[in-house]
Amino acid sequence: MSENCLFCKIIQGSIPAKKVWEDENCLAFQDISPVAPVHVLFIPKKHISSLDALQKEDSSYIGNILLSISEYASKEGLSKSGYRVVNNMGTDGGQTVFHIHFHLLAGRQFNWPPG
Ligand code: 5GP
Ligand code: ZN
Repeated sequence: MSENCLFCKIIQGSIPAKKVWEDENCLAFQDISPVAPVHVLFIPKKHISSLDALQKEDSSYIGNILLSISEYASKEGLSKSGYRVVNNMGTDGGQTVFHIHFHLLAGRQFNWPPG
C-alpha cells in the first residue's frame, strides 16, 4: 500500500467505489468518468505505480488481472461483440493515476489508431 495513492485507498475502503469484481489478486470498479457504456478499472491489490515499475516477481499480478478481465467480460456477455483493454503509462501514455490499472472498455465501437 502507498499512503497517498487514490487506488490504494479504494482497496482499503477509505474512498468509495462501485466495485464489480474482487479476487485475491485484484479489484475492479466502475470508472468515475466513463468514456464508454462499460468502463471498468482492474487494479492489483499490490501498489505498483506503472507498467514501467513492474518487476519480474509482479508478473503473476498482471497475468491474473488479464485472466480476471477475460472472465468478467465473458460473464457480462461482452465476448461476442468485443472489448478493449488499455494500460496508459506515463505522460505521453495519458496516465493520471500512478497505481497500475487496466481499463476495460466495451459497449461501442472503438477507433484505431487512438487519439
Ligand atoms: P489513467 O488516465 O491513469 O489511465 O486512468 C485513471 C482513471 O481513473 C481515469 O479514467 C479516471 O476517470 C479514473 N478515476 C480517477 N479518480 C477516480 C476515482 O476517485 N474513482 C474512480 N472510480 N475512478 C477514478
Ligand atoms: Zn496504490
